[in-house]
Amino acid sequence: MSAEEDYFYNKITDDKGNRKWLYPLIRIGQWYRYRSVVSYILLLFLFAAPFVKINGNQFMLFNIIERKFILFGQVFWPQDFFIFVLLMLTGLVSIVLFTNAFGRIFCGWICPQTIFLEMIFRRIEVWIEGEPAARKKLDNAPWTQEKIIKKTSKHILYVLISFLIANTFLAYVIGSDQLFQIVTQPISQHLSGFISIWIFTGAFYYVFAHFRELVCTLACPYGRLQGVMLDKNSLVVAYHYLRGEPRGRIKKNDPNLQPMGDCVDCNLCVAVCPTGIDIREGTQLECVNCTACIDACNQVMDKIDRPRNLIGYYSEEMIKKNETPKFTFRMKAYTFIIIAMLSVSMYFIWSRKDIDVTVLRAAGSLYQEQPNGYISNLYTAEFINKTTKDMDVDVVPENKSIKIKWVQNIGEVKREGSNKATFFVMMPEKNIRDSKTSVTLLIKQKGKTVEKVKTNFLGPVN
Ligand code: SF4
Ligand code: SF4
Repeated sequence: MSAEEDYFYNKITDDKGNRKWLYPLIRIGQWYRYRSVVSYILLLFLFAAPFVKINGNQFMLFNIIERKFILFGQVFWPQDFFIFVLLMLTGLVSIVLFTNAFGRIFCGWICPQTIFLEMIFRRIEVWIEGEPAARKKLDNAPWTQEKIIKKTSKHILYVLISFLIANTFLAYVIGSDQLFQIVTQPISQHLSGFISIWIFTGAFYYVFAHFRELVCTLACPYGRLQGVMLDKNSLVVAYHYLRGEPRGRIKKNDPNLQPMGDCVDCNLCVAVCPTGIDIREGTQLECVNCTACIDACNQVMDKIDRPRNLIGYYSEEMIKKNETPKFTFRMKAYTFIIIAMLSVSMYFIWSRKDIDVTVLRAAGSLYQEQPNGYISNLYTAEFINKTTKDMDVDVVPENKSIKIKWVQNIGEVKREGSNKATFFVMMPEKNIRDSKTSVTLLIKQKGKTVEKVKTNFLGPVN
């Protein structure tokens, strides 16, 4: 085992190699309140998004099995794959730039793992089992009636919430309508769906009841990549060692009293840490930037009448130069790039058409001479309805002198379906000036133009 691995495993295991079970303290402060508000908004979104419908479409759906994706009520088809690639690229670049500028803000403020664990499961634990000392005592106590009642009620609540999360998760993957059928119809009709719900319930229960912070410190690849994404200018939760050191307890009436830094070595910042680290040892991979230590330390600073933010959002450079946190040029530039990329992706999402039309001149055919001085070209077309409503579509040439003669009409294009059609485009020979003429076809739905398609028309050269 390398020195780094040894150092890491020492942090999460005790002398006997068993996992160190953490009993973090909750200290409600300014940052905890901000995080709570953000968490409530995100939780509301997370639980509501697969059940809200826009024009009959689920607001968010990621059906990998049927390759059907809906973002903000817009259905995405394999033809829209480029938007997905663009979104993925935007996400990837944003994560790297954002992390480089603002550290692990995502982990502490947005990640569902942190939100569920700290804002729901931890609160239930504190509510039922009490403060850290009481929780530890209860864990070490024999199985008395009190312990059985407390542990059973806690784990029943955990299973219920995990069940809720599993259902929501499946609503994102298979769709809320199908989930509703699984839940309301006999089990025998949806055995695999029923088993899936309970497998996911078990997985979520295990993560939030047992695996907990190890998701962030051991399993999460994003967490493991911090080392390469952060640099000395990244804004992270950090201890201002210039202010804090030399640390030591305040001893009044001590004749040998040495001038001390602001850190009174109370260890409160360690006690509140959900990953069990001491932020005073410097930036560590295990730190999820949850701000709990900032709140705890600020309360200590208030008590001893010292300025707040001994622990706060700083970059290594800011601490070295003794600067206060500020929105640097680099942060502004990265923020601008991220907003610009997101705006471009959003533009493509919102400007997507409801119908996708492909018009091709019939392979191998040139032009045909028709009665009454017309020249025709034969075309095949495909119409893909990307909406959840059936569509009546018509094709009308933009140039009024051109006519359409149907061989195979479009018919009604069913919801989320596609139809093929074959038709002649007929142009008066007197209007043909070149061997290739550009023709614009208007795709109309209920008399309204929903798409314009350009194609080439071949004709005789006079
Ligand atoms: S909470 Fe603040 S004062 Fe107490 S040990 Fe941590 S850094 Fe020092
Ligand atoms: S060191 Fe502070 S910010 Fe980092 S995980 Fe621990 S409590 Fe949260």
